[in-house]
Amino acid sequence: MKDYYEVLGVSKDADDSEIKKAFRKLARDTHPDANPDDPGAEARFKEIAEAYEVLSEPSKRAAYDRGDAYAVEDLFSSFGGLDDILSQIFGGGFGGGGFRRQQRRRGADLRVTVAVTLEEAFTGEQRQIQYRAPSECEVCQGSGAADGSERVTCATCRGAGQVQTSRATILGSMMTVTDCPTCRGVGTTVENPCQACRGAGRVDSVRELTVEIPPGVQDGTRLKLSGRGGAGEPDTPPGDLYVDVRVRPHDSFERIGDDLRAAIQIDMAEAALGTAVSLARLVGEDIDVDIEAGTQPGTIVRIRGEGMPRLGRRGHGDLYVEVVVSVPQGLSSDEEDLLRSYAELRGAAVAEGSRRRRRRR
Ligand SMILES: [Zn+2]
Ligand SMILES: [Zn+2]
Repeated sequence: MKDYYEVLGVSKDADDSEIKKAFRKLARDTHPDANPDDPGAEARFKEIAEAYEVLSEPSKRAAYDRGDAYAVEDLFSSFGGLDDILSQIFGGGFGGGGFRRQQRRRGADLRVTVAVTLEEAFTGEQRQIQYRAPSECEVCQGSGAADGSERVTCATCRGAGQVQTSRATILGSMMTVTDCPTCRGVGTTVENPCQACRGAGRVDSVRELTVEIPPGVQDGTRLKLSGRGGAGEPDTPPGDLYVDVRVRPHDSFERIGDDLRAAIQIDMAEAALGTAVSLARLVGEDIDVDIEAGTQPGTIVRIRGEGMPRLGRRGHGDLYVEVVVSVPQGLSSDEEDLLRSYAELRGAAVAEGSRRRRRRR
């Protein structure tokens, strides 16, 4: 069994006010509403609420201290139970009446993927996208009610959208709050449903949208378009649309963060004597790369400010050019003669020439 005292960070003889204080602080820090990007927050929050639920109730705490076993997860099969606890502690206003209900009562978030080339990622662009989404029914303007009729307050929940039910547990009866089964949490119902959407207020449709792909966009960048997701239940806001950007790999440029890497090939003589090489830029005019005399194979030349634009900031990354030095093959006899003279001057121990060349000499 979990150590609830440890979960709340209080001692075994902590009094009620200490337990309450510890819970209030932990609940604020770990409440899923305050940690929307942390998938573990809900589990931690449940554990804290569970510990508080047991330790704040003298009879449950006594049973826990005795080591009595009971099915505690039963208490939290519905988040309504937690909402009840929270409103006891914080008053009704915490999290705007319960995060579960809030999450349910808006349209669905949607995700689409857009693939761009590295050139497009460099310049940024406007991309036309199509996606399927639940959209407000045009016939009833999202109300779900047929022409001439209106939505009426749900008789089952009297507009609250939720109903309280009493459930028997080992620890006695527990009040839990669940979405109203009649109106599915909306609070209103239609008497005369719209024919086009069968009263849902929404229909599936294909939408078209122009998405602004920003310069410097990275593989995996997620763009959020608020309110462009699915339409929700009547009188609820729509969800958001997330556009995941994939940047396709490039044949001659490798991207590392905001920097680019490329390679140029030069001849052995060019490496030894120095040269200038024209390199095709990713976007724009060619760029001259200066190769100093005596450049070694594998040397990386850094060209500042010629990398990718920095996403959402000024400036560019750098361009790193690797120098690949090619050793000549298939030498003509003139070339071979020159290289052999060179080898002699350098005192290099080169192999004897081929039979063909020897005959011709
Ligand atoms: Zn309709
Ligand atoms: Zn209802």
